[in-house]
Amino acid sequence: MIPFNKPPHTGNEEKYVLEAINSGKISGDGHFGKKCEKWFLEKLNCKKAFLTPSCTAALEMCAMLIDVKEGDEIIMPSYTFVSTANAFVLHGAKIKFVDIRPDTMNIDETKIEAAITEKTKAIVPVHYAGVGCEMDKILEIAEKYNLFVIEDAAQGMTSSYKNKPLGTIGHLGAFSFHETKNYTSGGEGGLLIINDNRFVERAEIIREKGTNRSQFFRGMVDKYTWVDIGSSYLMNEISAAYLWGQLEEAEKIKKERLKIWEYYYQALRKLQEENIISLPIIPENCEHNAHMFYIKVNDLETRTNLLNYLKENGILAVFHYVPLHTSPAGRKYGEYVGMDNFTTRESERLVRLPLYYGLTKKEVDFIVGKIKDFFYETEPIP
Ligand SMILES: *Cc1c(COP(=O)(O)O)cnc(C)c1O
Repeated sequence: MIPFNKPPHTGNEEKYVLEAINSGKISGDGHFGKKCEKWFLEKLNCKKAFLTPSCTAALEMCAMLIDVKEGDEIIMPSYTFVSTANAFVLHGAKIKFVDIRPDTMNIDETKIEAAITEKTKAIVPVHYAGVGCEMDKILEIAEKYNLFVIEDAAQGMTSSYKNKPLGTIGHLGAFSFHETKNYTSGGEGGLLIINDNRFVERAEIIREKGTNRSQFFRGMVDKYTWVDIGSSYLMNEISAAYLWGQLEEAEKIKKERLKIWEYYYQALRKLQEENIISLPIIPENCEHNAHMFYIKVNDLETRTNLLNYLKENGILAVFHYVPLHTSPAGRKYGEYVGMDNFTTRESERLVRLPLYYGLTKKEVDFIVGKIKDFFYETEPIP
């Protein structure tokens, strides 16, 4: 069986995890936690980087930082992971879902303005597959209406839009180190990026259970106490040590993923030229990180048949997301604004193929061969 994903593993993780264990300090913000944060500060050129237990946790911190209150409205695509919405719903917000663009599967920036009301507080663009949203336009709208921009860059580590790293363009950015992402901190993990100095001090407090513990450790206050709302949002040192083993090899992992992506693309071009499938589109102003390789087939029925066919042949391909506005909680806590021209239709056509660090050329050849067999050998003549 070719799995859909294998968590990235470079071989250095064990050494660092053992080092962390033997150091006698395995709670958050230890030696490796600080090393990782420094790496992100340099790579992303941001004001502050905080490791968190997940991207979900980083998004929850964002909701607290912008003071989301009962009745506030947050604009986002319906085609996203539940955490993008949950983080704000937890604080009483109502979600306004807008349509996506069919080319990138990202929020359609031309549909955002129509969803803005007096209650709108923030726009949350999701950089699907690590390909940037049209951020210039989104920032322009946010400025006009005085809104916050929080980037869900869960899939976007090392990607960029107009040479700016994803996650560093809006006020705040959230990344994931879940085992399915390009880099992992041992299964679960995340990162909050602060691009606006206003949020730095409060982010430290929210992350430390609502206390000024970080200031205490820096000698800025003589005892620490409860000063604000907060929760437990530090990544533990074992996870940070694992992550460090990956960051050291970040370039190598990225290069290999891009090679696999390009190999898939070239091998499947013929099927696109014959209008049997569509391949991903990377806008010219975006540099991507090969987080995902997907194809789009004609309709839901073809997708179901293709996924089954691949599974019978030992290949685990998957689909996601069921648009949030059609889910029970999405209907309860959100509302779709405007026409659903692409969200449902495009999400039903999408198939994600296996792509992970270590996937071989031979395996990609096998997968592509089976996809071709499906379309050329098993499809009835229309
Ligand atoms: C993976 C993912 C998340 C959640 O990340 P966790 O680290 O598992 O909390 C959120 N948003 C998007 C778009 C994702 O792909």
